[in-house]
Amino acid sequence: MAKPVRFRTDADKKAFWHSTSHILADAVTRLYPDVKLGFGPAIEEGFYYDFYRSKPFDYEELQKIEQVMKKIIKEDKFFKQIYKSKKEANEFYQKEPFKKELIKEIEENKISFHKHGEFADLCNNPVIESAGQVKAFKLLNTAAAYWRGDNKREMMQRIYGISFPTKEQLDEYLALLEARERKDHRKIGPKLKLFTQVEEVGTGLPLWLPKGATIRRVIERYITDKELKEGYEHVYTPALARTKLYELSGHLNHYRDHMYPVMKVDTEDLVLRPMNCPHHIQIYKFESRSYNDLPIRLAELGTMYRYEASGALYGLARVRGMTLNDAHIFCTPEQVEDEVKKALKFIRDVYADMGLIDYYLMLSLHDPKNKEKYIDNDVMWKKSENSLRKVLKSIKVDFVEKEGEAAFYGPKIDVQVKNVHGKEETLATIQLDFNLPEKFQLEYVDNNNQKKRPVMIHRGGLSTMERLTAFLIERYEGAFPLWLSPVQVRVLTFTDRNVKFADKIKEEFLQQGLRIETDYSNRTVEYKVRDAELNKIPYIIVIGDKEEKNKTLAVRKRGVQGVKFGIKMEDFSKQLQKEIDSKA
Ligand SMILES: [Zn+2]
Ligand SMILES: [Zn+2]
Repeated sequence: MAKPVRFRTDADKKAFWHSTSHILADAVTRLYPDVKLGFGPAIEEGFYYDFYRSKPFDYEELQKIEQVMKKIIKEDKFFKQIYKSKKEANEFYQKEPFKKELIKEIEENKISFHKHGEFADLCNNPVIESAGQVKAFKLLNTAAAYWRGDNKREMMQRIYGISFPTKEQLDEYLALLEARERKDHRKIGPKLKLFTQVEEVGTGLPLWLPKGATIRRVIERYITDKELKEGYEHVYTPALARTKLYELSGHLNHYRDHMYPVMKVDTEDLVLRPMNCPHHIQIYKFESRSYNDLPIRLAELGTMYRYEASGALYGLARVRGMTLNDAHIFCTPEQVEDEVKKALKFIRDVYADMGLIDYYLMLSLHDPKNKEKYIDNDVMWKKSENSLRKVLKSIKVDFVEKEGEAAFYGPKIDVQVKNVHGKEETLATIQLDFNLPEKFQLEYVDNNNQKKRPVMIHRGGLSTMERLTAFLIERYEGAFPLWLSPVQVRVLTFTDRNVKFADKIKEEFLQQGLRIETDYSNRTVEYKVRDAELNKIPYIIVIGDKEEKNKTLAVRKRGVQGVKFGIKMEDFSKQLQKEIDSKA
């Protein structure tokens, strides 16, 4: 018997999970001797193992595999490290082409395996002491994945799993998974009729249903008004442009993989734009600019199209057509730090209004070793990275520095958030760009009448409407604060007698700009209340004979027990207005 296993540090967990993947591979080999083995690493949460065979593992097969894994755990064999020469290893893996491929890449002639019982796997990772230490595990799902992530290679059948030293930990984890599932915007979105995706329209091209569109419209109006107050000027530019615009900007060189193919129209070559920047540059160039005009802050809810691999698409959070809360600030070099500071404050303010407070700031730097990915200008990188760092330090916020995360033209400050499954995405971004002003020969006249080059700051504020909405759905689990709720009030009637009065109330509230809908169906009031609750409606008004006679409302508030009777309409609408204004 092995002693209790350590399961505290990340390294402990990785060893534990990785060892469980050995047990999984052992079980699959026992059940399906023809299946070829790939490999099975520990991941952020749990492990997987890639197998090669023609069809996916179905539910019944996973159950069978779990049974055999239980048997292996009961056998409780010790994990032992053994070594083979290259020749021995190749003989051992005679019928395992993927393993042989891995062995080929090992330089030494001493090849490490971990063996428990009869099963040995090519492995130089830390493992646990014995199979019996895995007291609780579950195979979670399957997926198809290219061998070593290479889309020119074989399609492997991947099995994901999780394991723990106790059953309590497993139960806790499974409950967590269930909670995450509940909050997943891909689930809530269609259920609350916010958005949908259909095959006929295309992969990664969501449709905003009326309710989702309402949320988006509220956000778009909010952010536009807010930007106008901060000195941004809003523009409209087309989602198409000639390829030569992107040749000049460098996108065609650096971003081609994410762009759609060229369309030939009359004498022009057009592409769907992957970014709005070159269009805004043309607006800057429309007239000659003086230092007195700067900074010029051009903003647009700009629609663009990017090719994302189908495996990377993710609900509304990662799509192929999107609308960005975009802005480009053109300023003098002296104004850069002040403008970055202002933009950062702006972003932090609007995220507070959205209730998105769980983010961290990342200073994304270039990778000096990667000359392919980044423009080659050491002086520029040093200068611009330093000025962003200086701004972050001056406002005394915590931030993380990360190499290799910069845009190809300059460093950036990113606002990073995690979705319910722990996957990290960038919401807002502030990027310094000395490159595009050069390429497009942007100019302003300084106070000595000399021509100078402005600096360009790319500012993505509230992300794309798609990604932001995905995060808001998960943040609120569909129960949006009143100001964002697609429907703010639902009016229910006791009987048909009350419909006329209810309609009058509806009309009055509509005129006040409130978003209101009605349920006059013949179902019971209890049923109608339940339905409104399931749809996360913030306020429910019930109209019966008494309300009609007294000209008052019976009001239920989401998340609050009980009903308030005898509320005057005037008081109710004042209360709603106050709540909307507070964005609480
Ligand atoms: Zn291993
Ligand atoms: Zn830009």
